[in-house]
Amino acid sequence: MKENRIVVTGGSGMVGKSLKDIMPNAIYLSSSDYNLTSEKGVSQMYYDIKPTTVIHLAAKVGGIIDNINKPYNYFTDNVLMDTLLIDYARKNQVERFIGMLSTCIYPDKVEEYPMTEQMIHNGPPTPTNFSYGYAKRCLAVQIDACNKEYGTKYQYLTPCNLYGEYDKFGENSHFVASLIKKIIIADRNGEENIELFGTGNPLRQYMYSHDLARVIKQCIDDDITDSFNVATKENLSIKEITEIVLDAIQPNNVKGFNFDTSKPDGQYRKDVSTSKMETIIPGFKFTPLIDGIKETYGMVVSSNII
Ligand code: NAP
Repeated sequence: MKENRIVVTGGSGMVGKSLKDIMPNAIYLSSSDYNLTSEKGVSQMYYDIKPTTVIHLAAKVGGIIDNINKPYNYFTDNVLMDTLLIDYARKNQVERFIGMLSTCIYPDKVEEYPMTEQMIHNGPPTPTNFSYGYAKRCLAVQIDACNKEYGTKYQYLTPCNLYGEYDKFGENSHFVASLIKKIIIADRNGEENIELFGTGNPLRQYMYSHDLARVIKQCIDDDITDSFNVATKENLSIKEITEIVLDAIQPNNVKGFNFDTSKPDGQYRKDVSTSKMETIIPGFKFTPLIDGIKETYGMVVSSNII
C-alpha cells in the first residue's frame, strides 16, 4: 500500500502546533525549512518530501494595523505561497490538498447573515484587510479551478477567528491573545481598568485552534474533500467576549474595561453559516469559549511567555 506522506506548511504557527498535538506523524514545516513565497523553495519542498497530502496552513497573518500598513506584503506573500503550492501539488500528483481561508475574506457587508459558502465573492472584503482578503479568495478560486479542469479533489476550509495557547502574544497579535496579555500586565501593575480599541460593538465568531485541528484531522481520517466554513454558532460582541475573558481569568485587580473609540473597529460582522459543516461533520462539539480561554490562560501563565 502506498505510504500517506502528510506535509503541513505553517507547522510552526498556532494551527500547525495544535494539529501536531493530535497528528504527530505528519511533517511540520516552518519558514526556516523552505521559503514558500519562492518558486525555488516550493519546488525543493516537493522534491525533497514527495508528499501525498499537503495541509497548507502557512500564510502571512496579522492584526488590523499591520494589514493596513503593509497591504502589498499581505497580498503578494499570500498569493505567491498559495499559487505555487497548489500548482506544484497538481504537477506532482499530490492526492489531497487542504488550503486555509478565513471568514474575514467574506464581503464587508451583505444583506443577510450568516454568510454561506456561496457568498464569498458577493462584494469586496473589508477595507482593513482588503489585500489579505483578495489574496485568500484567490486560493479558493485556484482550488475550485484546479478541481474543475484537472479533476483533483482539493479543498479549502474557511475558519472563523481563532485563539489558543499557541497564538502570538507579542507585537501584531490577534484580539483574544492581546486581550489576555493586556489583562495579565494590567493586573500585575495593580490596575483596575484596561483600555481596548474601537467601540466594542463588532460581532465575532471565535474558535479554539484545537477545534480547527480536530476538523482538519477528521477530513483526513474520513476522506472528506468538500470545502466548507468552520465556525462556532455563537456570534458575540467584542464587549461580550471581553467579559467572558475576564470571567475566565478572574484577575485580582482588573475589574473592568473601557473603549478608545478613536481607534478602528474593523469589520462590523462577518458571521458565517455553519449549516454545511453540520451536514458534513454532524455533531461536532466545539470547545465553549470560556473553557478554551481558561485552558489558554493556564498554559500562558505556566509557560511564563508574558
Ligand atoms: P500563524 O500562527 O501566523 O503561522 C503562520 C505560519 O506560516 C508559520 O508557521 C510561519 O512560519 C509560516 N509562514 C509564513 N510565511 C512563510 C513563508 N514565506 N514560507 C514558509 N512558511 C511561512 O498562522 P495561524 O494562525 O496558525 O493560521 C494558519 C492558517 O489559518 C492561515 O492560513 C491563516 O490565514 C488561517 N486562519 C487563521 C486565523 C487566525 O485567527 N489565526 C483565522 C482564520 C484563518 P514561521 O513560524 O517560520 O514564521
